[in-house]
Amino acid sequence: MVADKGNESHQHDVLKSTQTVIHLALDKLGYPEEVFELLKEPVRMLTVKIPVRMDDGKVKVFTGYRAQHNDAVGPTKGGIRFHPNVTEKEVKALSIWMSLKCGIVDLPYGGGKGGIICDPRDMSFRELERLSRGYVRAISQIVGPAKDIPAPDVFTNSQIMAWMMDEYSRIDEYNSPGFITGKPLVLGGSHGRETATAKGVTICIGEAAKKKGIDLKGARVVVQGFGNAGSFLAKFMHDAGAKIIGISDAYGGLHDENGLDIDYLLDRRDSFGTVTKLFNDTISNEELLELDCDILVPAAIENQITEENAHNIRAGIVVEAANGPTTLEATKILTERGILLVPDVLASSGGVTVSYFEWVQNNQGYYWTEEEVEEKLEKILVNSFQNVYDTAQTRRVDMRLSAYMVGVRKMAEACRFRGWI
Ligand code: GLU
Repeated sequence: MVADKGNESHQHDVLKSTQTVIHLALDKLGYPEEVFELLKEPVRMLTVKIPVRMDDGKVKVFTGYRAQHNDAVGPTKGGIRFHPNVTEKEVKALSIWMSLKCGIVDLPYGGGKGGIICDPRDMSFRELERLSRGYVRAISQIVGPAKDIPAPDVFTNSQIMAWMMDEYSRIDEYNSPGFITGKPLVLGGSHGRETATAKGVTICIGEAAKKKGIDLKGARVVVQGFGNAGSFLAKFMHDAGAKIIGISDAYGGLHDENGLDIDYLLDRRDSFGTVTKLFNDTISNEELLELDCDILVPAAIENQITEENAHNIRAGIVVEAANGPTTLEATKILTERGILLVPDVLASSGGVTVSYFEWVQNNQGYYWTEEEVEEKLEKILVNSFQNVYDTAQTRRVDMRLSAYMVGVRKMAEACRFRGWI
């Protein structure tokens, strides 16, 4: 019970701090209060109960959510997470972040997000399949290729997307690859989708390093989290000549001033990104964040850099690959200390960008090469980074507020043109 209460109040902060920055951004852009009233919460939020027959024969009832933040620009878009700590408020905040990401990289979407309270680490393959299919049946009325397009997020993957696509196609009585993105290649997935978030973060790191005059060759990098984003990112930075001196997972961190053997660690991680359990001499996640380095990448979960540890961060650049890893108080401290912070809604927008490419390819039935995907992604992210950086400079605001200003503008304009506000 205590743990549940803790989660709920912690998640409340995530929603509240997002609303605080949205409010500030709309104010700076000169929009009236009613725009904030409309955008501070999702326009639609569905809570569903999903009964699943478990392998032991008993039925377990799971709770799931799907939030649609705003559909003025186009259909809503965003991932589905499977995690024991999922709450309604977290899903709402995550849907708002998706709107901002889509605005920053200028996609024809609003934000959406889904979540199921479950622990996939304790579930069998077949139980996961039944849960995935049950969730799609439960939300089928409000989703679809032109309504709301899901994708992977924490602890979901291309196999889960494949089951979900198959279930939706049965309901729709039509093969519907455009219903969901992050699918396996053979079912209409896109080249480069699996590594897209990490690629996007890598591009942002490259741009931020240029601004700070840091050479990526030999730069010391610390990555918190070894999931989809963190592990591929460590690999890309390693390949770019950087030294990965620290990585971590949910159980602890590894530190080596001479650089960790990333290929070995990638080889040994499990599908949930766990690798440190194989080692004895681990450090804590708190210690990892405070290591002396050039580039720090929080790629795990929310609220990792707070007012308690922001003064101890020793990186020149902090690039948020996770959603919401830095609190607003910590953002202020880092900015005042001259640390260049690349906020989540910009840094982690590579995933949804390539999801958009996947949906476009599904709609047109014509598929692109990996080179085409990478070239298009690079162009979009370099422009978006520059746009957010320039806005921060000219409007004299921090990078997070700047990103929110860039991200919210198109949505607010679309609401205005539609006559909603
Ligand atoms: N879940 C990812 C995110 O938070 C990707 C969403 C998508 O591809 O639609 O950005």
